[in-house]
Amino acid sequence: MRELKVQCDCGQKFKFDVEPVNNQMPFTVACPVCARDGTEKANLLLRAQAGAAPAPMPISPAVAAPSMAPQPALRVNPVAYAAPPPIAAASPPPIRASSPPPKASLKHDGWGQAESDFNKKGSYVVLVPAVLGGMVSAGYIPIEIPPLYIFIAIALGGLVGGYINILGRGPVWAGMIVGVVMGIGGYGALYWWMQNHNSVRKYEVSIAFVVGAAPGFGLQYLLQWLLKRRGSAES
Ligand SMILES: [Zn+2]
Repeated sequence: MRELKVQCDCGQKFKFDVEPVNNQMPFTVACPVCARDGTEKANLLLRAQAGAAPAPMPISPAVAAPSMAPQPALRVNPVAYAAPPPIAAASPPPIRASSPPPKASLKHDGWGQAESDFNKKGSYVVLVPAVLGGMVSAGYIPIEIPPLYIFIAIALGGLVGGYINILGRGPVWAGMIVGVVMGIGGYGALYWWMQNHNSVRKYEVSIAFVVGAAPGFGLQYLLQWLLKRRGSAES
């Protein structure tokens, strides 16, 4: 995989990664501004590089595997617009290893420490019974479960999930209270939403759950604030 920079006749420069096949483009590229075909220009660059650079490795069948297939999507780097990159045919461009995207910073949720993977599982323990319960109550899942059992399942999910979510980074009782409030709130909002709609999309379920869980989040902030105040009073 190497990076190619092509300058279009309109003046626009764009770059993309390509695994050349016989020093040719295995796919077509087009200018992101004027949509003019840039494949021939890219082929010229590839041929020029092949003339100057040492012979490329022979293409083994493994290279042709689907996982190594070139991505058809054109990656246009906006950095290329600002600084005009020198298109030097004599020297091959540095092969930039594609590094994984930087890890998103872990959320603290206001608790002392970041959520571990184990803590994150607690959210699912809260969420799953609430979503399933909402679907059963609204008739989306055609099984008869007495409402009391649904309520118990959601409450248990909230207790256990809240416990898992806070374990090791705060008082578990606070997590358990918040878990129950979030689970029941999420269930209520889902049930209300599904009752009023014949079909429900996944994102609607997510939104309804977040709205319903909002009091739980609020309670979490309140508890954190109280605990912080108590902590500073004791010290
Ligand atoms: Zn163009």
